[in-house]
Amino acid sequence: MAKLDYRLISFHAYETRKKLGADENSPIDIEDLVLSNTDYTLIYKPMSENISGLCIKEGNNKIIAINSNSSKGRQRFTIAHELCYLYYHDDGIYICSSKIDDEKANDCEREADLFASYFLAPESAFYSDYMMLANSKNDLEHICIKLEQKYGLSHMATLIRLKMSKLINEREYIKAQTSPIKLANSLGYSTDLYLSTKKNTTMGRYISLAKELLDKDRISIARYQSLLLDGNRQDLVAGDDLNAEID
Ligand SMILES: [Zn+2]
Repeated sequence: MAKLDYRLISFHAYETRKKLGADENSPIDIEDLVLSNTDYTLIYKPMSENISGLCIKEGNNKIIAINSNSSKGRQRFTIAHELCYLYYHDDGIYICSSKIDDEKANDCEREADLFASYFLAPESAFYSDYMMLANSKNDLEHICIKLEQKYGLSHMATLIRLKMSKLINEREYIKAQTSPIKLANSLGYSTDLYLSTKKNTTMGRYISLAKELLDKDRISIARYQSLLLDGNRQDLVAGDDLNAEID
């Protein structure tokens, strides 16, 4: 297994944040950020539990599909992971495992996981937040929750990052692998991060392209509606009967 170049991957994450219009250090709404770029289609769909998502890259056309059964934190991580493929790999289809930090995973997968971690939680900001929390006598459980809530990372991704940055040891890493929900609740945080909150839906280029085809009379209204339905966008299809089916 090749050794990953942490500094280069961290730089790639920084470079991609800049390309998408985010600053160097702030927590981000990754869905908004990606959708602000018109090349992207985001598809949320239930998938089998060993897959976190996939991406398809074909020139400027970039599609990211996310397993909607996973938690919001995990979904955010998947989008960031796929960005690594979309910016630093050739055109193609990449299907991604749900295991993070899997020692058996190939180097591209490990690289994309690391990229995702740095993308969501930039190195210097994450480190200085950790030091501030540790210096004000927070225990590891509290530190984890505060960091993952700030950067929108899943609990596991946060622990892996802390271990990788040598801020916690193996024993602490294993001990902290408990459900964060109760403590997050008691600290007044929303627990959305730990739950799957997404409906099945499609957003971005696919939808705007369908509308463009309709507006230019390239497709009929019926075809337009069927494209919206294929993308699970019943909400955009006119007609109360269809809307009544939702929820
Ligand atoms: Zn992957």
